[in-house]
Parts: sequence; C-alpha cells; structure tokens
Amino acid sequence: MLAKGQDSRPIFMTPQQIRLDDKFILFFEGQIVCDGLLSLWTIETINPEVIIGAQLLRIGQDNGKDLIAVYLDNSPLESLPGAELRSLRSMLLSESREFFMGAGVAKQLEEWLRGHKYCGSCGGSTVPHSSERALVCSPCERHYYPRINPCVIVLVIREDKMLLAKSSRHNADFYSCLAGFMEVGESPEDTVRREVFEEVGIKVGRVDYISSQSWPFPSQLMLGFIAQYESGDITPEPSEIADAKWFGPYDLPNVPSARISVAGKLIAHFLER
Ligand SMILES: [Zn+2]
Repeated sequence: MLAKGQDSRPIFMTPQQIRLDDKFILFFEGQIVCDGLLSLWTIETINPEVIIGAQLLRIGQDNGKDLIAVYLDNSPLESLPGAELRSLRSMLLSESREFFMGAGVAKQLEEWLRGHKYCGSCGGSTVPHSSERALVCSPCERHYYPRINPCVIVLVIREDKMLLAKSSRHNADFYSCLAGFMEVGESPEDTVRREVFEEVGIKVGRVDYISSQSWPFPSQLMLGFIAQYESGDITPEPSEIADAKWFGPYDLPNVPSARISVAGKLIAHFLER
C-alpha cells in the first residue's frame, strides 16, 4: 500500500538522486504514461533519457520501494515503445488498485505544483521546501501545502429502503448516494443534514459514520455516512438531482461498485444488514 517514506531522502528530487530500486509513475500533459499492464515503471523499463529535465517528486512507497512521480515536459511515447497516455478516470475500473492509488496521489500533487508556482499573497515565485512536501514563497516565506477538500457522501435509509439519486450532471446513467462539499465551520454531520435537505428536501435524524476514501477527482476526502430518515417528501433540487427515489434491496438500479467507491460500500453495508 502507498505509504510515505520514512528516510531522509529529499521529497523534491534530482535525476542524480535516483536509486536503482526506485519505482516511477510518469505524467505528461496531465495524463499518465502507461504500459499495457499498468505496471509501475522501473529504472530498467524507463529510458533514463526520458526523465532528463523532468520534475521529480517522491510521493510515497510501493512494497517498500520509493515511488517517484515524474512530470515530463516532452512526450515520452517515442522513447517508450508500447506506452500510451491515459486519464486517471479511465483507470477507475481497472484491476490495478495500487497503480490507481499511486497515480491518484501523483495527479493531485501535479495539480498542486501547477497551481502554486506563484504566491497567492504577494505574487512572488515559490520554491520547493528543503525537507517537507511544501512550496515556499521566496519573498514572503508563506508555505503552501497540498490541499484536500473534505466531502460527505450519505446513504439515507427509511426502514428497508434507501434513497438513491441520479445526478443532473455528466448524463449519469446510474443512481448513487447524495454527496456534497463541507463548508467552513461545519462538522461532517452538519454537512450531511444540510446537503440532504438542500438536494432532496428531507430531514434526517441519526447520522452514523461508516467509511472513507481518498477521491482524486480532483482532490477530495470522501467521508461516508448512513443517515436515518426523519421527515419530509423527496423534492429533488433540479440543478443537482435529475431523479431521486426510495429503493428496496430487490429493485436496485444501476449503482456504483463497492470495489471502487465509498458510495458502493455504503450501499453494500446497508444490503448486508
Ligand atoms: Zn509571497
């Protein structure tokens, strides 16, 4: 599993600091450079010329080996026969969960690097921190760390039925739990109550935390809850919800897989009871 390295190797690396047993995830123009099997690249499978001039960021570990994200300025496809560029979203259903997790971290850090070249306070240029995963403004010394945006995702249940909704965005062809970003000053339970009421006009009583998940689209922490129905009739907010209904265990629509999403896990958790 992906874990942060414990030793004193730098976070922001130069090609000279690479070790023979390091593993790599390659990015070019926001897409992931993949071989057909979604294997991590190694010094043997990578062409070392490919990474000259690239930005290298040590992002964690894979089976005890350091995992390094390589953000390339030039297309590597000619130097790496059989390689292709893929979006992170296209890997959601792939079998290689570890590759997806590593690529998800690397993708979030790429967006952080790209979005913090300059200080939001004084406009000065930022430089890598000497020992932390942070960017520091040269003139005013303000620090910028990668940001995670907390969200709640909630399955509302009423006796033996669950409330599932179809999003009005992205032409969704499946039903899922309700979800929303936490706002300043809220606890996750506050967000659950507010979002459920805003999206479908229902008040919930008891709220129980079940499970969580990092969700790199673009940089969320999804906190999963089950909430008990208290009062109200389903009244979808049309800008967010195309349809919402109560579903029983035997009339389930198309729902997300429990293998890839916390929404699927919440649904499975309820069905198991
Ligand atoms: Zn500054």
